[in-house]
Amino acid sequence: MQPLSLYNTLSRQKERFEPISAPHVGLYVCGPTVYNYVHLGNLRTFLTFDTLFRYLTFVGYKVRYVRNITDVGHLVGDGDEGEDKIGRMAKLEKLEPMEIVQRYTNNFHDVLLQFNLLPPSIEPTATGHMIEQIEAVKELIDKGLAYESNGSVYFDIEAYNRNGGQYGKLSGRILDDLLNETRELDGQSEKRNPLDFAIWKNAAPEHLMRWPSPWGMGFPGWHLECTCMSTKYLGTQFDIHGGGMDLKFPHHECEIAQGHGLNDHDPVRYWMHSNMLTVNGQKMSKSLGNSFLPSELVSGNHPLLDQGYSPMTVRFFMLQSHYRSTLDFSNEALKAAQKGYRRLINGLRLLKAMTFEADADVPIDPKHSEEIANYRQALYDALNDDLNTAVAIGHLFSLLKKINQLDTRQLTMGQLGEEAFDLLKNTFVQFIEDVLGLQEEPIGSPHRPTPAAMITGMLDLYREYKTQRLYDKVDQVRTYFKAQGLVIRDMKHRIDWAYEE
Ligand code: AMP
Ligand code: ZN
Repeated sequence: MQPLSLYNTLSRQKERFEPISAPHVGLYVCGPTVYNYVHLGNLRTFLTFDTLFRYLTFVGYKVRYVRNITDVGHLVGDGDEGEDKIGRMAKLEKLEPMEIVQRYTNNFHDVLLQFNLLPPSIEPTATGHMIEQIEAVKELIDKGLAYESNGSVYFDIEAYNRNGGQYGKLSGRILDDLLNETRELDGQSEKRNPLDFAIWKNAAPEHLMRWPSPWGMGFPGWHLECTCMSTKYLGTQFDIHGGGMDLKFPHHECEIAQGHGLNDHDPVRYWMHSNMLTVNGQKMSKSLGNSFLPSELVSGNHPLLDQGYSPMTVRFFMLQSHYRSTLDFSNEALKAAQKGYRRLINGLRLLKAMTFEADADVPIDPKHSEEIANYRQALYDALNDDLNTAVAIGHLFSLLKKINQLDTRQLTMGQLGEEAFDLLKNTFVQFIEDVLGLQEEPIGSPHRPTPAAMITGMLDLYREYKTQRLYDKVDQVRTYFKAQGLVIRDMKHRIDWAYEE
């Protein structure tokens, strides 16, 4: 089997994945800043790492997955000046900052559950790690890598580079270019060098979120929390750090500088970045006004949407592209994804309902078991190739053909043989449900799903009306199914229902 390789942003190439102490894997992912509802773009990034977490677990690693909640320190504009995003929202809404944090953390959890993302092993918050952050600032000052200025503390890029650091190595930014980009920003006078970044910020009394420190009342810089929390729970060097592409610079570049500064070695072995969800080629973001909330997507209640799409349709849509490619949102692509997802789930339903029954006198044709084993192998190979879910889905559709052949009896259980049948069932179910996290959805309205007993009862009525040749009523039952997004499959050997593709 091809070994697992992952694209490492640091080396700009795919590398064989070798954990520091297998079977354990440490995975850290930058979580949301909880000042607003998560949008679909954010969801794409979290989905990428959910899939990675699922796959690593599936192949036997014991993963400690840490995904933080940013509840202080992330300033409007992502730089060192300006208001705290949460503090600003608290003022606007006349609420306590922690009420804002709680409201949007709850929303974040609800959305992830709706899209079937697994919870992380640890979900630490920045405000819950104030002591660790203050200690880290002290240590960086002691090591000559940071300095105080007017009650704020800045990381000293020049001192860091003199001591063996390479600021810019993750994002590939050249220091001179950075200087040109940064020079015009305001609030630089406190800094020795415009590139230096805040690890502690002095806060005036009107600032809602402030803590006592050796440098006066203030709050930690945005980049520091991830360094402190990843180190605390995963060690000074750990396996994988993930986040969206837009976090490469400055956030992750600064995390490397802080981690290296504190511990004299790089904090992370593999840096992974998920590409952006775009709308008409533009990054989906709240500030550009082109973002959808997951709830709008499900209801279809948004000017850019032709109709509503279910969470699993969206999950399938996202998994159909490789995480390092941009993914452009469009109604056409989502409609195609809806069809694809339903085809796959119809296959899953059929397969789950099947049990092996040998046909008398039919010899096993080994061709089928070979093919199934090859597809299973190909599924592993696709995911081992930098988590290529797009290719993996293609192989699942190849397996789906076998399932449909079994259903229509073009292929019999006897020809397949019990071992091959079990392999088909395990492979299809495991990769769809455990690895890709796709599952069957409730029928009918997401808010008021139709009970399964209702569907079964209506199907019984259909059979009854058909036997009595009451064709008007038969048609009425068909219409009922259609309204639920289902179709009746009236076959010679069986009457059943399926999701309408
Ligand atoms: P934030 O709450 O702004 O810190 O973002 C949370 C996560 O969502 C980060 O990892 C971002 O990189 C990611 N993100 C933001 N916008 C997009 C987008 N349009 N597509 C994919 N990921 C995004
Ligand atoms: Zn982070």
